[in-house]
Amino acid sequence: MKDLLVDLKSGNKIKVKVKDVTIGGREKIFISGPCSVENLDTMLSIAKRLKKAGVHMLRGGVFKPRTSPYDFQGLQYDGLKILREVSQEVHMPFVTEIMDTRDVEKAMEYVDMIQIGSRNMYNYSLLKEVGKTRKPVLLKRGMSATLAEWLYAAEYIMAEGNMNVVLCERGIRTFENYTRNTLDLNSVAVIKGKYRLPVIVDPSHGTGLREIVPAMSVAAIATGADGLMIESHVNPDNSISDARETISIDTMGKIIERVKANNLF
Ligand code: PEP
Ligand code: MN
Repeated sequence: MKDLLVDLKSGNKIKVKVKDVTIGGREKIFISGPCSVENLDTMLSIAKRLKKAGVHMLRGGVFKPRTSPYDFQGLQYDGLKILREVSQEVHMPFVTEIMDTRDVEKAMEYVDMIQIGSRNMYNYSLLKEVGKTRKPVLLKRGMSATLAEWLYAAEYIMAEGNMNVVLCERGIRTFENYTRNTLDLNSVAVIKGKYRLPVIVDPSHGTGLREIVPAMSVAAIATGADGLMIESHVNPDNSISDARETISIDTMGKIIERVKANNLF
């Protein structure tokens, strides 16, 4: 098989368009929303406020890869319908995780961008299946994946003909357990220096701690990331999942202001 990793080292940078949002261009892209879609009203109020704060795209999980099988598993297709309705109302595209190859075809009519989660980065059947579509794909780094393994996962998608891949650094598991993961910004610097794919950073799962999300957001942009994906909620403490790392919409707005004021790009 052709080694796209090598090809990626030369030529123009790849830009990925998600409706009218371009990832990998001059503008830094902010993606935000709750860990899980909870209900229509909450999702709509989050989306309206995020739009005012300057966020470009929405996020929200509906097929949730939870560590415990007894935890909330997501609203599934009802959640996809909520995302589609909200995104149309506020005119913002959205990204959501698809976990199962059997959902890829059916989900296509709803989603603007498919997220491949950390736990599924090694799921080669799923990577090939989304590679057969032409939907933009947000490929999260496996929590124990090396940079090479992560890039090869991107190649699995691209080898099927879908070049609309955006990488997402979300932290790796190390001996450090104060934070949920260790946000590896080395990877971002290497990718920006050597490879053609856009890369964004998720400081929410990368830290697990809302109080350090702003600092790591600024650091990620300073490293060259093309954007950020951050979990936010109108009532962070009441988030159904990942409350501890979820920030308020006000904090989201402050992060955007700080990134812009620091003129980090
Ligand atoms: C998420 O972004 O909703 C998520 C589950 O993250 P990760 O796959 O990085 O753990
Ligand atoms: Mn989460």
